[in-house]
Amino acid sequence: MFICHFGLGLAAKKIDNKPSLGTLFFASQFIDLLWPFFLLLGIEKVKIVQGISAFTPLDFVYYPFTHSLLGVLFWASLFSAIYFLLKRNFKSALLLGILVFSHWLLDLITHIPDLPLFPGIESKAGFGLWNSVPLTIIVEGLIFILGSYLYIKSTKAENKKGIYTLWGLLIFLIIIYIINIIGPPPESAEAIGYVGLSQWLLIAWGYWIDRNRKAD
Ligand SMILES: [Zn+2]
Repeated sequence: MFICHFGLGLAAKKIDNKPSLGTLFFASQFIDLLWPFFLLLGIEKVKIVQGISAFTPLDFVYYPFTHSLLGVLFWASLFSAIYFLLKRNFKSALLLGILVFSHWLLDLITHIPDLPLFPGIESKAGFGLWNSVPLTIIVEGLIFILGSYLYIKSTKAENKKGIYTLWGLLIFLIIIYIINIIGPPPESAEAIGYVGLSQWLLIAWGYWIDRNRKAD
């Protein structure tokens, strides 16, 4: 689910080592970081429907502000523009914008047709990789493993923390991923919102790792 977005964040370090891993995670997972706020405020809606797809019981009933094609293009441009204003680095700003948008493309592959194209328009997209659990695990797992490999190749630990924090995160993400697959479904839409908020800690973890590793 989320593991492939973190995989792309890790992989992006290979293309541009200027942004911290925390910033790369921030971009690749940006719309899922916004989503819990929209859920908890009651603006967007999710339901728990067992069997809606083989991989997840989440039915993304209504999330045009965070997850429509148009919405994501808006967030990607905004993210890119703010980064450029702060850092004056066009290449990194462009990469981060693409990374925000990559979230939608990955969701497009995995989700069943629930991704709106434009707010207010009925047609929804999604190629439905989630209809097969083994295929989902293979594709998402490969993206995650490749991303981890590229990040490890592009950086070097400056101290012990640079090793432990990185491996700690990679193992933690894999454990959460497995729990998501074999664990019980979430209690309520509200619970999904609060669990979603906790993802912000993973961004902080990204900055922590990157501060203890340097570009190779
Ligand atoms: Zn998403």
